[in-house]
Amino acid sequence: MMRTTGTEEMKITGLSDKLVQLAKIMKNQNIVNELQKKARELRDKYYGNIITYSRKLFLPLTNICVNRCSYCNFSRRPSEDDAYIMSPRLALEIVEKYERKFKIKEILICTGERPDAYKEVKEKLKGWGYRNYIEYLRDILEKIVKITTYAVPHVNVGYLEKEEIEIIRPFTASLGLMLEVDSYTLMIYGPHKHSPTKAPHYRIKFLINCDKVKIPVTTGTLVGICETVIDRARTLILLSKICSMINAIQEIIIQPYAPGERSIKECKCCKTPTIEELSLLVSLYRLNIPIEVSIQSPPNLVNDIMIIVNSGINDLGGISPVTPDYINISYPWPKISYIRKLLQDNGYTLRERLPIYPRFVREYKIWLSDIIREKVLSIVDDNGLVDPKYEGED
Ligand code: SF4
Repeated sequence: MMRTTGTEEMKITGLSDKLVQLAKIMKNQNIVNELQKKARELRDKYYGNIITYSRKLFLPLTNICVNRCSYCNFSRRPSEDDAYIMSPRLALEIVEKYERKFKIKEILICTGERPDAYKEVKEKLKGWGYRNYIEYLRDILEKIVKITTYAVPHVNVGYLEKEEIEIIRPFTASLGLMLEVDSYTLMIYGPHKHSPTKAPHYRIKFLINCDKVKIPVTTGTLVGICETVIDRARTLILLSKICSMINAIQEIIIQPYAPGERSIKECKCCKTPTIEELSLLVSLYRLNIPIEVSIQSPPNLVNDIMIIVNSGINDLGGISPVTPDYINISYPWPKISYIRKLLQDNGYTLRERLPIYPRFVREYKIWLSDIIREKVLSIVDDNGLVDPKYEGED
């Protein structure tokens, strides 16, 4: 079933024509205002004056990763001094300590990919009674949903096979995996040279498997990691196509590259996009992606939140009132009260959502396991957002 998209003139018809057309638009900063206006109007028509965010606790179970993306400031090899994998007991202690106190609704499990590819991690997992990382992950997720009041997990641990998605699905509300950039050149010469699962076909397979397993999934693009304008255009076309083909995609993140100590040394061609480039991209995504798929940009990585809001986003992603953004450690989130006031002054209302969007809450029989469904339905209002009486502040 084809789904609704933005304005007719932006609609994708022929791939090669569209690629050239989009690339030209992306280079033409003179049309930012016009596109912003169209994207904003489209967003307002569907989402009204509501901008959402997810109130999360960031739980990075391990920073050990088999890949080596040169823009990454988070991942470590087991031999590095600050490499770690949390014991299940520590992970649960953190959840117990903060979930209720800070009215958390999302436990974000974000980790390096396939840490058990290393024998050091394998041995540690064995010592805790697990045969592999997926067993460890599933056990922690199961324990988390048993101890939380309302919070449900959102899991972003890199590429997983379909069988692995099925194993964790009963205990997680949604998954995340960025497409990043539809480019094989970056796999040969660029920052994905040592990261085989960053190949676009793996990412697509993952998204399609989420649809098969019936779990909502978040994806998106990383902007400024040595990609060309043609790569950006190709990525938008691909994401637009996938969103029209499957129902599981709930959100597209448009994330700018944020330099850190490591990435500055490791990636010479990485470059943070300007706010104008980013806002143009946001508008183009809003106009080309089915309207029911949320468009998000992280507020700690953009230097002007209102420009991005005015370009067509309807969501600010996960924001934690208690933990830092471990992936972009030098970029603190703005206070929720600050964002609320900023939006209010511009005619918008900030609302809390769960790590699953209202559309999937409404179709809970299809998309949510029994245990997740029970928690979700106990806290949402008629629109599928967090009932205001359960919302938190700073
Ligand atoms: S970006 Fe993800 S996959 Fe790449 S090195 Fe960092 S943690 Fe690993």
